[in-house]
Amino acid sequence: MKVLVAGAGLAGLNAAWELQKAGHEVELFESNTRVGGRCWSERLPNGEVFEHGGEFIGVTDHTIRRLCAEFGLPIVGLGISFDRRWQVDGTIMSEEELAGHVADLSAAAERLCKARGYRVSLREVAREAYGPDYASLPYCQKLFATTTCDPDQVNGIAIARMFQGHDGGYVEHRGRVMAGNDAVAREIHRRIGDVVRFDTQITEVRQASGRVTMRAATGEEFAGDAAVIAVPLPKLQRLIGTLDLPAPMRKAIEGRVMGAAAKLNTMVSGKAPPRGIQAPNAPWWSWSTANNAGDAARGSLTSYAGGRATMASLKLDEGPAYWLEQTRAYRTDLEVSDTCVLTDWGSDPHTEGAYSMPGLDWEPEQDRVFDQKAGAIAFAGEHTHFASLNGALDSGARAAKLLTLI
Ligand SMILES: Cc1cc2nc3c(=O)[nH]c(=O)nc-3n(C[C@H](O)[C@H](O)[C@H](O)COP(=O)(O)OP(=O)(O)OC[C@H]3O[C@@H](n4cnc5c(N)ncnc54)[C@H](O)[C@@H]3O)c2cc1C
Repeated sequence: MKVLVAGAGLAGLNAAWELQKAGHEVELFESNTRVGGRCWSERLPNGEVFEHGGEFIGVTDHTIRRLCAEFGLPIVGLGISFDRRWQVDGTIMSEEELAGHVADLSAAAERLCKARGYRVSLREVAREAYGPDYASLPYCQKLFATTTCDPDQVNGIAIARMFQGHDGGYVEHRGRVMAGNDAVAREIHRRIGDVVRFDTQITEVRQASGRVTMRAATGEEFAGDAAVIAVPLPKLQRLIGTLDLPAPMRKAIEGRVMGAAAKLNTMVSGKAPPRGIQAPNAPWWSWSTANNAGDAARGSLTSYAGGRATMASLKLDEGPAYWLEQTRAYRTDLEVSDTCVLTDWGSDPHTEGAYSMPGLDWEPEQDRVFDQKAGAIAFAGEHTHFASLNGALDSGARAAKLLTLI
């Protein structure tokens, strides 16, 4: 079988690799000039690796951890907590307080769901859980920034269920690939060989008589027996226009919301010990992480802002200067250099956003719609599974399996 794959992020790459291992011919189309998509690592001039996009690898992210083991890519501990952030007054919530906030959010979501059904926004759930001052609560600021979307436009019940605690308790020890997370994408690319056509943006997908055809912006047409579509959500929302899809699948795609986020990666003079600190009275934060030995300091600092409102408040359309100034103003513990790299995913032409969340019209059945094919097409990407590096990889493996099961 010949399978066409649109998008060479972790989802499309993993789908292609799994299909190839099962004996199928694959051809990948990628609008950018590199693989990896939102998994993209580079080095600052002082040699420190930084991530433009996906950074934290969770403790239960088994697929990416398994691949790193298989590829011989060490994962180093970040040495900071993602969920518990230091405040500028030197306080940090305890693990018990964190568990309390998670439980309160979950209980509020289920209460509202019982009273009103599923159509409840994240803001309504947060207000119900934490009261009128919810917006100044550090946990809530973290939640809103992490979801990257307008809290009035995304579904609070789906999100509360997504972030509820794991069986076995909370473990803080997240990590990153020592060589940069995109080493995973580059290694899959190396293994699948010369099957990626770069600079090739797919603009139309059709299927008829058991054949799938993809048309590129250049006017070229490609045909195969099946396809995996693994392009980011806004691109997919436009591509499905011409396709015959089951109604629940179309609803899930059209109803999902793409968020926006930005990162400012800066060099620091000397070394910054691992620490994540919330900006004062603002829903963004900055962190420095452990070095390759897992404990000592690194010469870099990352600031992260999630959501268009926060990004606008940092004047990102004028460049990094204002954000750099704001970072310096509260990270007085460090000497933050002018050498920095700003990545604004909200205006990235290949992704048109950072990652996606369930929209207001979400219903639990939508979580399973991508466990089926639409004719000879399977869908992959964070928006079809879980908005993470690991979720993207898993979605690719799922798509490959769907196409190879007769
Ligand atoms: C700022 C930021 C921080 C994040 N932090 C974390 C984190 O800490 N931990 C974590 O696990 N995850 C994180 N994520 C999420 C994670 O990076 C993504 O979920 C994952 O990388 C998405 O992979 P994907 O394959 O679904 O999509 P992508 O990586 O976007 O791949 C899709 C590919 O399709 C290409 N494409 C687009 N349109 C077309 C077209 N028409 N034709 C052909 N190709 C096309 C794109 O160029 C891209 O290469 C973060 C993301 C961002 C942006």
